[in-house]
Amino acid sequence: METLKKRFPTKQIYVGGVAIGGDAPISVQSMTFSKTADLKATKEQIDKLQLAGCDIVRVAVSDEEDAHALKELKEQISLPLVADIHFRYKLALIAAQSVDCIRINPGNIGSKEKIKAVVEACKERNIPIRIGVNAGSLEKQFENKYGATPKGMIESALYNIKLLEDFGFSEIKVSLKASDVERTMSAYRGLRELVRYPFHLGVTEAGDLESSMIKSSMALGGLLMEGIGDTMRVSITGELEKEIEVARGILRYSGRQKEGITYISCPTCGRLQADLVPLLKEIKAKMPPIKTPMQLSVMGCAVNALGEAKHADVAIAFGSGDGLIIKKGEIIGKYKQENLIEVFIDEVVKTQKEMEKSED
Ligand code: SF4
Repeated sequence: METLKKRFPTKQIYVGGVAIGGDAPISVQSMTFSKTADLKATKEQIDKLQLAGCDIVRVAVSDEEDAHALKELKEQISLPLVADIHFRYKLALIAAQSVDCIRINPGNIGSKEKIKAVVEACKERNIPIRIGVNAGSLEKQFENKYGATPKGMIESALYNIKLLEDFGFSEIKVSLKASDVERTMSAYRGLRELVRYPFHLGVTEAGDLESSMIKSSMALGGLLMEGIGDTMRVSITGELEKEIEVARGILRYSGRQKEGITYISCPTCGRLQADLVPLLKEIKAKMPPIKTPMQLSVMGCAVNALGEAKHADVAIAFGSGDGLIIKKGEIIGKYKQENLIEVFIDEVVKTQKEMEKSED
């Protein structure tokens, strides 16, 4: 049985220039934590996210000041912008004039007229709506009947989808977030059988770096391998750029993103000749962003390096006071420790250019 399943065929929508669903690459999103109307702070965070490899950014719109700030914010950034709105449909009407997507649950905004007004505003600018179901804030009718369960989340999503479809709107993506792995996975799996809209994957309130990395790797990684998911956010308390790094890692290690560097570092053993942990950290920090799919090996001794790094595009093997650089299984030189990492990075960049050229 294949472990990596084919992706579910979903409808393709666009958030700005980024396609979501269908055969589009799985995009990575994040959310700023500044007050959105504080344009300086918000833009600073968006720039950092973009540099880290974020594809789409979401900002909270909690009052009119935030809603009106979106126009200027949009002019200052190039990432597609999503406005996150709870309850107040008037904020959605203002936001829809500037942003590339609205996140709002129509079931929360009141009368049919209000839903219709939001739908019309989005239709006018041809922007999609994300329905963001959250286990912790289901509509009363679902919470009373099912509790905060996957069934309740699925019923809430279907209800919200129908509210939009009733007004002829189908530029929809859906998220079904719970704070634990099991409910998150069950909800997405259940709804995937029932609709063809693209899914935004995430675990909500996933916690700090360690707990979010584990929960997100299990839930998002598992779903991605089952073919579920079109865009994703890893939420980590207080770690903006790490969200992107972890999301990219999950995509790569679940086999859904080929591009970029995959690091293989030796597990270390009694033959270790250098302090590998800080050296690996230094390499990762100094490595320029690379999109070409490459495998790099970082080895703790020169003795077994040739054999253990033979599948790597470029490998570095630390000896005591010096080390080897190995390219596609061939040693290309022995260098002093002082400039070993710089030589390695130069070789990676050179190899990447050669690989890119041979693809043309
Ligand atoms: S590369 Fe060297 S140090 Fe690392 S696991 Fe292999 S033998 Fe041990």
